[in-house]
Amino acid sequence: MRKRATRLAHAGNRPFETHGVINPPVYHASTIAHGSLDDLRTRHASGDPRAVVYGRHGTPTSFAVEETVAELEGGAGAIAVSSGLAAISMAMMSQLRPGDHVLVTDSVYAPVRKLCEDVLTPLDIECEYYDPLVGAGIADLLRERTRMLYMESPGSHTFEIMDVPAIMKAIAGHDIVTLFDNTWATPLYFRPFDFGIDISIQAATKYLGGHSDLMMGIAVCNDATLGSVQRYRDLIGHCAAPDDLYLLQRGIRTLDVRLQRHQHNAMVLARWLEGRPEVIRVIHPALPSHPQHDLWKRDFSGASGLFSLMIEAAPETALAALLDHLELFLMGYSWGGYESLIIPYDINRHRSVRPLTDRGILLRIHAGLEDADDLIDDLERGFARFNEAKDQQRS
Ligand SMILES: *Cc1c(COP(=O)(O)O)cnc(C)c1O
Repeated sequence: MRKRATRLAHAGNRPFETHGVINPPVYHASTIAHGSLDDLRTRHASGDPRAVVYGRHGTPTSFAVEETVAELEGGAGAIAVSSGLAAISMAMMSQLRPGDHVLVTDSVYAPVRKLCEDVLTPLDIECEYYDPLVGAGIADLLRERTRMLYMESPGSHTFEIMDVPAIMKAIAGHDIVTLFDNTWATPLYFRPFDFGIDISIQAATKYLGGHSDLMMGIAVCNDATLGSVQRYRDLIGHCAAPDDLYLLQRGIRTLDVRLQRHQHNAMVLARWLEGRPEVIRVIHPALPSHPQHDLWKRDFSGASGLFSLMIEAAPETALAALLDHLELFLMGYSWGGYESLIIPYDINRHRSVRPLTDRGILLRIHAGLEDADDLIDDLERGFARFNEAKDQQRS
């Protein structure tokens, strides 16, 4: 097997099928013309998922992206849809039926909780949240009707690392579909299929796209689940937009080099922040101070640029003084682009099993591709404003 940087540069491209053009062309398509009655009949009946029959069912542009991501993750096939959340809902709903019980990590990407509560629960699909640190203890939560186990590691905002091998061992022999949101690590730093997971989710909106200009989600499936997810996609009518697919394919080519810088900058910032008096703790799996650092080291081959920190409690004016005048860090949701981001988060609104107990303000940072010294400079001036605003409040 070729090394990952090499695969990243070539996966999914077939230049000599398109005049030697390196990147797969953007096919804008709804209607597909058929050259003969025989073609019309056989192409539709072939059942070949790569048959070009109608825009919604895929074009060479979408096939190229799906082939690329499937190869990178090591799955049997991939299905690209219009957002990460769409990929998640598709993966879940394709496998679940009324009466089923689903175990969902308490540290799940928060909109998935809404999906569980407002879509799945009314369909008589019971979602139960579990402690991301449950490990082998997951066995105690299994029921006769448990049909799916939903994992995300590190956890959203709180970055708990799950003991995936212990969990997979504990559920072995049960008829349970396992789903893993692999957006943080990307296929480069965590390999869900090596752990026996059935479906890996990429919010390609984040690192795979990498430039904050597209929405896309990809469900990568193993042999056991691919057919049913593909069929559900066709039934429900999901598809992905051609220009976004093109941008995604282009973004993926630089994933390895981008992630190296994201990783480096995040580590430099995390270490610097650990030394700041305003910081209670930095929550980054690659720091030795992280409670599950050993699990991260065992199961992951790198860290991306997203982490959190807890700073001391302060009045809203002090927090605004810190955040409002940053010059490089932008405030915004999502992440994975080239720009650095910072956002405060009231995480316990989205936790029912393992809330954070520190009394402070949780900030999430995405380290972009800028020079780390300049990023530190920006934060240093932010902390000076923060302290000044706190002092003023006191006097
Ligand atoms: C952003 C995100 C999603 C959802 O992706 P969208 O493309 O925004 O719908 C899912 N999971 C994780 C971990 C995310 O960060």
